[in-house]
Amino acid sequence: MTSSIETVQCLIIGSGPAGYTAAIYASRANLNPVLYTGMEMGGQLTQTTDVENFPGYPDGIQGPEMMEHFRAQAERMGADIRFGLATQVDFSSDLHKVWIDGEKEIHAHSVIIATGASAKWLGIPSEKRLNGHGVSACAVCDGFFYRGKSVAIVGAGDTACEEALYLANLCPEVHMLIRRNEMRASKVMQDKVLNTTNIKIYWNTETEEVLGGDNVEGVKIKNTQTGESSVIPIHGFFVAIGHTPNSKIFKPFVNMDEQGYIITQAGSAKTNINGVFACGDVQDSIYRQAVTAAGSGCMAALDAERYLRVILH
Ligand code: NDP
Repeated sequence: MTSSIETVQCLIIGSGPAGYTAAIYASRANLNPVLYTGMEMGGQLTQTTDVENFPGYPDGIQGPEMMEHFRAQAERMGADIRFGLATQVDFSSDLHKVWIDGEKEIHAHSVIIATGASAKWLGIPSEKRLNGHGVSACAVCDGFFYRGKSVAIVGAGDTACEEALYLANLCPEVHMLIRRNEMRASKVMQDKVLNTTNIKIYWNTETEEVLGGDNVEGVKIKNTQTGESSVIPIHGFFVAIGHTPNSKIFKPFVNMDEQGYIITQAGSAKTNINGVFACGDVQDSIYRQAVTAAGSGCMAALDAERYLRVILH
């Protein structure tokens, strides 16, 4: 621990839509925010290609380019944006301590957590190779590109069911690949899926490989009961096997649900710790959209501004 301690009014951790929006609002409120980007500057959207559902881009935009716009706007408003990963926190006193890259120590009167969540993947090489070329972890983001085409989706939780239903409105055939002989999803979601005629369920089914050269052309599956392999021709392959919120370092202090999503007070971005706010996917297991993350980033900055007005004046 060699570097000197820096004290800031508002520290923002994370650089997705939530973090950058918080930075825009905090800058304009004269909170002089410092934002640490994390290792994946720009967050999950830097992993996607076309974004067509973010309002304000009538012709759509590439995910990485959109995140550049977010960053540029936050910088123009005066946010101090730095590359670095928050590795440890101590929220036991009013001045919140955060360590960056295991060494630099920052003391912040307010902290906005916007560290996002990471989609879980199957871990097969073809899934990685074709990511953004037919493989996606977000049907609401990318389903539109497969209108009129056949797709497959892996998973059997509420997310997979919701996404299968979303896709069933766009695609003639949705092949739902389920690794066990039952679904984890709530009964109501299961019933909806089972009653949708263009969703075809494959029980006891594992994905062996996603097929295709430049784009997805099919999926090779295996029935784990019979040992038989087969190929389904598809254009889109959706993985909906859960997300992991990036909240581990906050666990000793901040209240979370059993999956690690930070709990915020209804209608606000407040956590159980005074002066610590959370926004974006790290506190949202339901909507997970860029636009909802951005909205909650705005809420976090406004909550931080109100909090600082009381404690600093
Ligand atoms: P879940 O953890 O609930 O479900 C994950 C699913 O993916 C399970 O069916 C699991 O199978 C399957 N899976 C995991 N790993 C693999 C793998 N390697 N290969 C194949 N299948 C795999 O995640 P969700 O994202 O669905 O939901 C997260 C939480 O959010 C839940 O509490 C859910 O209820 C909630 N939610 C609520 C919604 C709502 O209320 N509208 C909408 C969306 C989510 P297995 O069952 O065999 O483990």
